Amino acid sequence: MFVTGLKCFKCGTTYEMTPTAYTCPACAGTPGDDGILDVQYDYHALSNIFPDLIKKSGRYDVFRFLPLLPISEPTNVLPVGGTPLVAAPRLAARLGLKSLLLKDETRNPTRCLKDRATAIAVTLATANGYRDMYCASAGNAAISLAGFCANHGLGCHVFVPSEASQTRLNWLRRYGADIHVSTGNYDQAYDEAERAGAENGWYSRNCAFNPFLVEGKKTVAFEMGEQLGWQAPDLIVAPVGDGCTLGAIGKGFRELEAVGLTDEIPQLIGIQSEAI
Ligand SMILES: *Cc1c(COP(=O)(O)O)cnc(C)c1O
Ligand SMILES: [Zn+2]
Repeated sequence: MFVTGLKCFKCGTTYEMTPTAYTCPACAGTPGDDGILDVQYDYHALSNIFPDLIKKSGRYDVFRFLPLLPISEPTNVLPVGGTPLVAAPRLAARLGLKSLLLKDETRNPTRCLKDRATAIAVTLATANGYRDMYCASAGNAAISLAGFCANHGLGCHVFVPSEASQTRLNWLRRYGADIHVSTGNYDQAYDEAERAGAENGWYSRNCAFNPFLVEGKKTVAFEMGEQLGWQAPDLIVAPVGDGCTLGAIGKGFRELEAVGLTDEIPQLIGIQSEAI
């Protein structure tokens, strides 16, 4: 592995790579955030060799990018990634753009970019002997986790806010998840998930808590870079919940720059629907 350590975004402390690490021990309980850890790599060792390593992998899923992932080998989770960049020339013309490409993440197993993070989480959970996983979610992350757990034979405990949609709850039921509907909002469901996860010793699939999920999400940036001949697009627009996906896209392009593949970082725009 090319991982050199885990660095706290808040206080800067660096820790050794531990596959079961969550947030920064030094920042635990401090107001604001608990100190999210960022996975660091030896970019110098990877410069020049990264494109050869990914080609030699012979894979077209998230594990193609193994040298910049916090895992030592691929596992047989549901196949994720390798999604097409679809040209949308008519929409581009309407918006006055020279070129507009859509990264079609609905091709993933549960039809969502979140599957990239789930693939890494399930890999780490099984490699470290966990039989159960959990997450808090308005729906989509829970559906992703439930789908992968059903396929892999893991227990799946999902914590959703009181206003979770029936459509999403039905997906969760079909995947056989253990569903906890909170009496409150997402924040309350999140607290309930963290409490139950800690009490029962389940593995967490909560982004901005488990530092390894963003590593899966950033593979979407690697794919876009490679599909564009290692050119960064001028601008990337992505939907935002907590901001992990947008942050992961930024990290992915910074890493491509760090290993010498691109020399520009795209401008990133996060969007949210007015209707929640
Ligand atoms: C997961 C998700 C996002 C992105 O969430 P982040 O927490 O920012 O990664 C955006 N929109 C929808 C509908 C989602 O399900
Ligand atoms: Zn810290």
